[in-house]
Amino acid sequence: MTVQPEPKASVLARCGQIVTGLREAAGVGAVIADLVSLRAYETDGLPAYRQTPLAVVLPETTEQVAAVLAFCQANGVRVVPRGAGTSLSGGALPLADAVVIGLMRMNRVLAIDYADRVATVQAGVTNLAISGAVGGEGFFYAPDPSSQLACMIGGNIAMNSGGAHCLKYGVTANNVLGLTIVTMAGEIVTLGGAHLDAAGYDWLGILTGSEGQLAIVTEVTVRILRSPEGARAMLAAFASNEVAGAAVAAIIGSGVIPVALEFMDRPAIHACEAFAHAGYPLDAEAMLIVEVEGSEAEQDALLARLAAIIRRFDPLSLRLAATAEESAAIWKGRKGAFGAIGRISPDYLCMDGVIPTSELPAVLGRIGEMSREYGLAVANIFHAGDGNLHPLIMFDANDAASMAKAEEFGAEILKLCVAVGGCLTGEHGVGIEKRDLMPVQFSADDLDQQRRIKSAFDPDWLLNPSKVFPLGAPPVLEAA
Ligand SMILES: Cc1cc2nc3c(=O)[nH]c(=O)nc-3n(C[C@H](O)[C@H](O)[C@H](O)COP(=O)(O)OP(=O)(O)OC[C@H]3O[C@@H](n4cnc5c(N)ncnc54)[C@H](O)[C@@H]3O)c2cc1C
Repeated sequence: MTVQPEPKASVLARCGQIVTGLREAAGVGAVIADLVSLRAYETDGLPAYRQTPLAVVLPETTEQVAAVLAFCQANGVRVVPRGAGTSLSGGALPLADAVVIGLMRMNRVLAIDYADRVATVQAGVTNLAISGAVGGEGFFYAPDPSSQLACMIGGNIAMNSGGAHCLKYGVTANNVLGLTIVTMAGEIVTLGGAHLDAAGYDWLGILTGSEGQLAIVTEVTVRILRSPEGARAMLAAFASNEVAGAAVAAIIGSGVIPVALEFMDRPAIHACEAFAHAGYPLDAEAMLIVEVEGSEAEQDALLARLAAIIRRFDPLSLRLAATAEESAAIWKGRKGAFGAIGRISPDYLCMDGVIPTSELPAVLGRIGEMSREYGLAVANIFHAGDGNLHPLIMFDANDAASMAKAEEFGAEILKLCVAVGGCLTGEHGVGIEKRDLMPVQFSADDLDQQRRIKSAFDPDWLLNPSKVFPLGAPPVLEAA
């Protein structure tokens, strides 16, 4: 895949001048320009692709971000925003002629209002740190990507991130109330506020999930929720992926919504058990983690109804976590799943398609067939309740043929997701990874309308320009 657009020779030739300008805009200590230090920013959670940027700026205030963007706009310099760099779709991959703006020093919690249940934080605060800041008062921030220890709320906004508990609470877009953003022209704009339903157009909706292409987010106001009284997880083991998929479809179809409904197949169960020692059923072909929460009575009632549905599918076993420790181990296995697969394969591609849950049995069956056709192992670990598939295709990046096969296999899975009525990405974003597949889902007219939105915010296409849209297609330069 051609990953990068041609670097601008005019920018590369003025590298020294540009670094000086960045230092004037953000301060000498905020700018990194030596090759060794720049290498730390050359990739993200899709390490098959690497590119050293021209420079990195680490601002601490919204005003510094504004000054840097205004300077870059005036000098025609491309910019790549970056949080923790955990993007699995290459969203934070630098360009050779671009300045990376890293938000990690903007890591302050600015305000917490328990009466109105909102918290305002800088964009570089990690997802888990928000819950950490309000947990003492019995509150939490709901969207919980598995990378929550590292990933930052600004990155979560850019990717509209989800997580295991988003089945009940909704994804990032459903939990954001206000944003401070800086446009490529260096304008500081406040959107929404500390309450639901801001007046006017849904600008929060446009910005959330915009993959760093429209503006840089510097401050975020999120909804915080009362922590539940308690939660219990149940493990259900099945003899095949298809039967487990059918059980998921039946649970969702019944209207009894657990707080989380996660799926793992045999390779995933074995890899995660070796890592977490959670008592996962090693004889099973597939396993569901079903979690409910609420008072003891609510948990009992929900678990009884869910168990009755699951029993219709002849589970090999159905086990309730007996203790809080056991529940924690079950989640440790699931949340550490990507790392656990990393222990058994040199590399993997994590796909991120979405399908209607009723299609799960058929799609899982077809992925199994494709795995045999391509000769590449797959582990399926995913947010089953949302129909958000994460097939992890195992390959060896040092073997070009293996990598090409893995990419082709991944593309076929995503095409299948679209063909059954789903879409290319549930939570990891398009980035560079799915950029060239966008025409599978969108017509030329659809893509053109989306480009017009980008052009309205960033007429010169300087902000994260090589992502989301297929390369080579001319940007629509007039504003929408
Ligand atoms: C082990 C692992 C598990 C994961 N599990 C999940 C999961 O369960 N659910 C899920 O949704 N994702 C998951 N991810 C993917 C990733 O963590 C999310 O996409 C996350 O939101 C990225 O945040 P980040 O701070 O690392 O952003 P980065 O990776 O640095 O950037 C991601 C994108 O956001 C843009 N961006 C970053 N900060 C800003 C900003 N302040 N303003 C504007 N644009 C910005 C970047 O340009 C880029 O396009 C996982 C990743 C890993 C490695």
